[in-house]
Amino acid sequence: MRQPRLHDKNCPDNCEQVVYNDCMRLRNIPEAKEIVAKSPYVIKNPAERKGRWSAFSGGPLYVEIGTGKGRFLMELAARHPENEYIGVEMYESVLMRACQKMEGRPAMDPASRSIEAMEQEMDPAEFTPPENLHFLRMDARGLPEVFAENEVAGIYLNFSDPWPKARHSKRRLTSHEFLALYEKFLIDGGVLEFKTDNRALFDFSVEEFNEAPNWELRAVTYDLHRDEVMGVDNIMTEYERKFSLLGNKINKLIAVYKKPSAEAEEETKL
Ligand code: SAM
Repeated sequence: MRQPRLHDKNCPDNCEQVVYNDCMRLRNIPEAKEIVAKSPYVIKNPAERKGRWSAFSGGPLYVEIGTGKGRFLMELAARHPENEYIGVEMYESVLMRACQKMEGRPAMDPASRSIEAMEQEMDPAEFTPPENLHFLRMDARGLPEVFAENEVAGIYLNFSDPWPKARHSKRRLTSHEFLALYEKFLIDGGVLEFKTDNRALFDFSVEEFNEAPNWELRAVTYDLHRDEVMGVDNIMTEYERKFSLLGNKINKLIAVYKKPSAEAEEETKL
């Protein structure tokens, strides 16, 4: 395997992700499209459910954006059958892995099989896919077409792409542009949890939440795995496992959306 590089010129997004060479996005997996299309765990026309998600779900709706291969949500959904979980991932070649895990099948790409086994820590034979977990194959920018006002109780962002160049800052999933987008479908008191090992992205995010008038930072840690409060019941994501094995500290913040009253909204319009 190639050594991790700070900047991988092959990255289609030019995102300069550390250890980016391990990202599935770089691999052309011809069967990914078909696997995602056929998976019963991927909701195909989510916009048709807009405003009606409660008819399909048994509890409050939580969304992970940039879900990757889905390990985090599989564990979270199994721990909380009272909630409904949606994983949003824009690349079929990545989401394919989550679909395969849900179906208890090993990865089809032989090159990634050992990585899969290490990351999953699940015996496919014993794994029961949580009924309260589904996926959307889409860019998060389209989420207001899928969820109506007050339809989502919480958002998870795990190891989001850092987009280190200043001119790309609005692509960061914790930018004020994205916070404004989440406000369109989050409930009042809706929670957003964000984890990353990237300190520059984390500092940027803390600043964005501090400056956002409708958000309140509830908790921040710069070393999640050693934090006696925030580290409790932590579920490791695929990237979290990789980066903590490299010795990186994991940062986490929890923020709450405080929906402005109708009067306050009127006032800001004047
Ligand atoms: N959350 C996983 C983890 O912690 O292991 C994956 C992290 S990976 C660095 C970031 C993931 O977010 C990638 O799979 C990428 O395709 C996805 N992603 C980035 N921007 C996105 C967007 N705007 N909408 C949906 N997915 C996105």
